[in-house]
Amino acid sequence: MRCPFLDGDRVRYCQASAHRKMIADRGGADVRERCSTPAYVGCPAATPRLGDAAPGDRCPFLQEAWVQFCSAAPLTKYIPANDSLLSRCNSDGHLYCELYLAEADPGGARLPDVSGGREPARIGDHMVVVDGVPVPENLWFAPNHMWLDVAEDGNCHCGIDGFLAKALGAVDRVSFVKTPGVERPTAVLSVGAVDLQLVFPNPLRDRVANVYLRSEPGKLTADPYGAGWLFEGVEPTLPGAPVGAATRAGLISGESAARWIDGETDRLARFVHERIGRPGPDGSTAMADGGRVVAGILARLDRDDALELLDAFFSSRGGWRASW
Ligand code: SF4
Ligand code: SF4
Repeated sequence: MRCPFLDGDRVRYCQASAHRKMIADRGGADVRERCSTPAYVGCPAATPRLGDAAPGDRCPFLQEAWVQFCSAAPLTKYIPANDSLLSRCNSDGHLYCELYLAEADPGGARLPDVSGGREPARIGDHMVVVDGVPVPENLWFAPNHMWLDVAEDGNCHCGIDGFLAKALGAVDRVSFVKTPGVERPTAVLSVGAVDLQLVFPNPLRDRVANVYLRSEPGKLTADPYGAGWLFEGVEPTLPGAPVGAATRAGLISGESAARWIDGETDRLARFVHERIGRPGPDGSTAMADGGRVVAGILARLDRDDALELLDAFFSSRGGWRASW
């Protein structure tokens, strides 16, 4: 599915000019500028290049082409229509483009109100909310609470799910671990003095990190399924295997994820109950009414408990198997 903001136009440009300035072709036969009339012979850019060529009706250096451009961008930049740089705009990858999200989803509307009650609630076609945690049914989920989206062309995006976003509350820093070749995408999320190394369980090739998060780490938890994506990449090719088979291996489908998140919510509540039942020195508690864990629980735990929580729920060996 191509981006609705991707637009096309026919442009003209001068092949003789050192700078290729493209001008939208708006007029057809009504446009009578020098380039498309016999008056081109007087153009200082054309004259030295014409040689002995017979005069014509229009300048031989006048070129026309189809281009594409982003109508959501503040400045129009024409790109040749066959340019592979536009692959994101021509595919489902546009769902993770900052410009698209700013126009189509200002404020992260794909993340519904997460203040809801304990009972799962359906919002829209793809979203279920479990105890305030949004669970998109069109994604796949890893045991360590990362999501995966595989487009029809094999292009993949992954990030953190709403459960992890809620537990973190906010992150101070997002770092990306550089790994060559076909490797598992790895990021480090820092909350106070605690670091979480987050490793997606399946490898991707041609990985690109969302380095925008280095300067805007708040997006990671504010819009985890949109602008807060962590990695983009291509799944390794498996001969004869359907698209997505390699990257989805071992993950849980979105249709089943609500039940898993429900179990994880209970497991987290038990974990927190066992460690902090009493109010802290400032009188705050880590449990909301009804025994539900509050958002940003990680920052309310001491360092040892926080590390234990990260290991139990979000490490490569933690995750759902205790509750699924
Ligand atoms: S007349 Fe020909 S050479 Fe001169 S600007 Fe137009 S296209 Fe270029
Ligand atoms: S740059 Fe972004 S918003 Fe613009 S057309 Fe491409 S995907 Fe769409």
